[in-house]
Amino acid sequence: MPDDARTAPERWQPTVSESRDAERRPRILVADDDPAVRLLTVDALTPEGYDVFEAEDGHAALEAFERHRPDLVLCDVMMPGTDGFGVCSAMRAHPHGAHVPIMMLTGLDDVDSIERAFAHGATEFVVKPINWTLLPRRVRFVLRASEAAEQLRRSEERYALAARGANDGLWDWDLRTDRVFYAPRWAEMLGLSASHLDSSPGEWLARLHPDDEERVRCEIAEHVAGETDHFESEYRMRDVDGDWRWMLARGLCVRNAAGNAHRFAGSQTDITKRKDAEAQLLHDAFHDPLTGLPNRALFLDRLRHCLELAQRRPGFQFAVLFMDLDRFKVINDSLGHLLGDRMLIEIAGRIRSVLRTGDTLARLGGDEFTILFEDIADVTDVTRLAARVQQQIAQPLKLEEQQIVTSASMGIAVSATGYTKPQEMLRDADAAMYRAKATGRGRYVIFDAEMHSHVVNVLQTEMELRLAVERREFRIVYQPIIDLQTNAISGFEALVRWQHPTRGLLTPDAFLAVAEESRLIVPIGRQVLREACAQMQTWREQDARADGWFVSINLSSQELGQPDLLEVVADVIRTTRLPPQCLKLELTETSLIENKDRALSAMVALRELGIQISIDDFGTGYSSFNYLHRFPFDILKIDRSFISGIDDSPEREEIVRAIITLAHNLGLQVVAEGSETARDLARLRGLPCEYAQGFSISEPRASQDIEQLFLAAAPAARAG
Ligand code: C2E
Ligand code: MG
Ligand code: MG
Repeated sequence: MPDDARTAPERWQPTVSESRDAERRPRILVADDDPAVRLLTVDALTPEGYDVFEAEDGHAALEAFERHRPDLVLCDVMMPGTDGFGVCSAMRAHPHGAHVPIMMLTGLDDVDSIERAFAHGATEFVVKPINWTLLPRRVRFVLRASEAAEQLRRSEERYALAARGANDGLWDWDLRTDRVFYAPRWAEMLGLSASHLDSSPGEWLARLHPDDEERVRCEIAEHVAGETDHFESEYRMRDVDGDWRWMLARGLCVRNAAGNAHRFAGSQTDITKRKDAEAQLLHDAFHDPLTGLPNRALFLDRLRHCLELAQRRPGFQFAVLFMDLDRFKVINDSLGHLLGDRMLIEIAGRIRSVLRTGDTLARLGGDEFTILFEDIADVTDVTRLAARVQQQIAQPLKLEEQQIVTSASMGIAVSATGYTKPQEMLRDADAAMYRAKATGRGRYVIFDAEMHSHVVNVLQTEMELRLAVERREFRIVYQPIIDLQTNAISGFEALVRWQHPTRGLLTPDAFLAVAEESRLIVPIGRQVLREACAQMQTWREQDARADGWFVSINLSSQELGQPDLLEVVADVIRTTRLPPQCLKLELTETSLIENKDRALSAMVALRELGIQISIDDFGTGYSSFNYLHRFPFDILKIDRSFISGIDDSPEREEIVRAIITLAHNLGLQVVAEGSETARDLARLRGLPCEYAQGFSISEPRASQDIEQLFLAAAPAARAG
């Protein structure tokens, strides 16, 4: 290789521009109508490592250019046909000719031709008569310069391509002159045109968001001072419409040997979409999708801040209001979820309209809303607001031609009580709300000491119940159910009791609600199920009189909702060997409402096992009749409120008669619950009712008592 300049530093064969193959000899085209000039050129250049091609006129020159693709052209100005200028222009217009160096051969004083040649795209000129010794050196010189230019061009193209690919806007800040070059893309990202930008740093910095500017300036200064090894910053910038766009800038300083920066260059990327997505995710995590209000997580977080603030600022008082729409479930069920949702949105808007800007309204789920009132003077601030919210909610609501009137029950907890955990305060407000609901709808109740002791009591019971499950402190009592035709015992309802270590034997009203709430009813119910079935099977195996007996067991809402209910029941009848037709399960209307989706399939599956299902406490719910049609019951238990005292009340008797008729029409058998006196029982006998249960027959009794009363007295040994 004759020339070190042509050892190209790096091979990058782009579609963008072509470069010469470094391995092959450079090709020179000499176009001159003077054969002597051509000959001498060949003589001068061939020994120096060049391949020389000749052309005797302009036409031939262009042909040779096309065929040989020379790396450099020597071209005479004056030629027959197309002259040197024409050749020059034509070559420049050629797809491969844009950057090939063209050296014009001109007369010594022919300044005019030189100017014209440049205008036509020539690169250099060589004065005639040609100095043949110098020519190879000049050629080498021009080739090297062109190679360098070529490399630069490629590098710039590569850079431009990469930048375009990354969609980045480049900037290059000369720190000595304090002028910045902004690439067109940089301007474009802000909706600006590059030609309207001046080269001052202000074009960038003055567009920064006021909240970001100080920080970005600091980050730049730190990097320029050498305190950070690169610059990277996210900030908002105002675009041409005055909107804020999120940008990410990355850059690096060029430093001299002393480490002083003189140039600072980098790129800027528009990250608005990413930022929006992040913000959306963050928003979704802390907001209720239906109303857009803060959710429980955000509410608890704000509440936590208030609690912390109250510790630092003794006078700072705040309150939590917990509210629940009255009868929303009924409205939602009857109107459909779509209208139910619209109602919630409307209510949310109404509540918000009476709040101060600093107050937080949240939706915890369903129809439960909470409000955090910050910085109140005393509790009357809250009660006044509660009243205003209630007024708002009480306004009739019109949804698709339907007029709906609703109200809300509210519970209030005030910070003065000295809370440390946000959950505690929310829990107390919730408890107060329940109290409000119980005392009549559309009211508010402020949480107080008496309620506090109730809450503590609930927590205490829950803790003890947990232990009771482990220690198996539950007992079962059995209440006979008799056949009104024969007076004989048909079966028993199993009723749970808690043998409390200090409080004695407790009936369900003392613990069932807490057990439901804490879901401890699930393990308790399973103990009852297994034990009662085992007991009944034992009686059946011991005594022939027990052959036709069944045991009837209550299933709570939580139990009905268990996905493994069926497996558990199947396992119990398998392991206790109790025939499935001797087991009945009692469900209430409430547990059906609460397990809408699951109840029906669970019931169907249980009946397929051969188990019968009763609807318990019939007549106490909202729409018991609805449920009779929709679910496959076998037995209907009329609630004791209709039965006890039936003797004194002809109306009651009529209601009971109607219920029995309805049940029979649907193919159900009837149990009258809570017959308390002999007279009740006598009256029941006059009705076409299959079974009766109540104190008039027997109170619920422990298993030994059952054995003594109904089996041991006249033992009937099992045959065989
Ligand atoms: P229930 O299923 O309606 O059971 C009948 C309740 O009425 C029993 O109350 C029973 O003692 C009572 N009773 C029976 N005859 C009369 C009477 O003539 N007059 C009066 N005043 N009451 C009578 P208990 O045992 O206190 O149970 C209350 C409720 O607790 C039950 O009502 C049932 O819903 C629930 N329960 C009881 N045991 C269990 C259980 O093991 N699991 C579940 N999930 N719930 C149970
Ligand atoms: Mg029952
Ligand atoms: Mg009942």
